[in-house]
Amino acid sequence: MLIQSCGFEDKPVIKSYAWLSGLNELDDVKIKAKFDKYKKMGIFGLMYNGGQNPETYKRIGKIAKNAGLEFHAWIPTMVQSDTSKIDTSWYAINGKGQSAWTKPAYVDYYKFLCPNREEVYDFLKNMFLQIADVKELDGIHLDYIRFPDVILAKGLWKKYNLVMDKEYPQFDYCYCDKCVADFKEKTGIDIKAAEEPSEVAEWKRFRYDLISNLVNRLSQEIKKKNKKVTAAVFPGPNSVACFFQ
Ligand SMILES: [Zn+2]
Repeated sequence: MLIQSCGFEDKPVIKSYAWLSGLNELDDVKIKAKFDKYKKMGIFGLMYNGGQNPETYKRIGKIAKNAGLEFHAWIPTMVQSDTSKIDTSWYAINGKGQSAWTKPAYVDYYKFLCPNREEVYDFLKNMFLQIADVKELDGIHLDYIRFPDVILAKGLWKKYNLVMDKEYPQFDYCYCDKCVADFKEKTGIDIKAAEEPSEVAEWKRFRYDLISNLVNRLSQEIKKKNKKVTAAVFPGPNSVACFFQ
């Protein structure tokens, strides 16, 4: 799959990036042909989602650089499912006390980690820094750098048969012991005793800050390797996403 983001024609020309995956099994010749085509189409750089093995980015990045393209590793951050390096106790807990590992929200792959665990930070730092060592890479593109959507995009309500008139505890994270205790210590508020946690502004801020702090710490480390750090975005009112082959 390949998604291109591009500006409107009446706006100044901006750099056009393509998000793509699924090339790991292709041979170099086939990948080169694709990248040459993208370059001719006016693509400036690629966000490539190829897993967590640095060798993959090295091989495919080399082809991208030869084609004159910028090359970024596009990698899910808080969503992780390979437990060979992750303990299942590091997963986020919803307002009903259920783990995102055993009972993910909406879809099976929504296995989000808790951003407040030092073990999670260490895992992510090690994973990203190994990839950031690849000289063919211009940057790391952080995907799923957030909590699960407490309110899912409206277009998906029907698909998953959801009533999303307010924030419901089964979609609200993270209520792990560490998040609850740290919040209590910081604000004096026992969030588990709150009738409507969504109305507690400090609780929202606390969780925004958990993600911001994690991003700041990760990007400081990645930038030491002279790589750019970006975050995955949704197409908004001022951008367009186009699918093409
Ligand atoms: Zn937590």
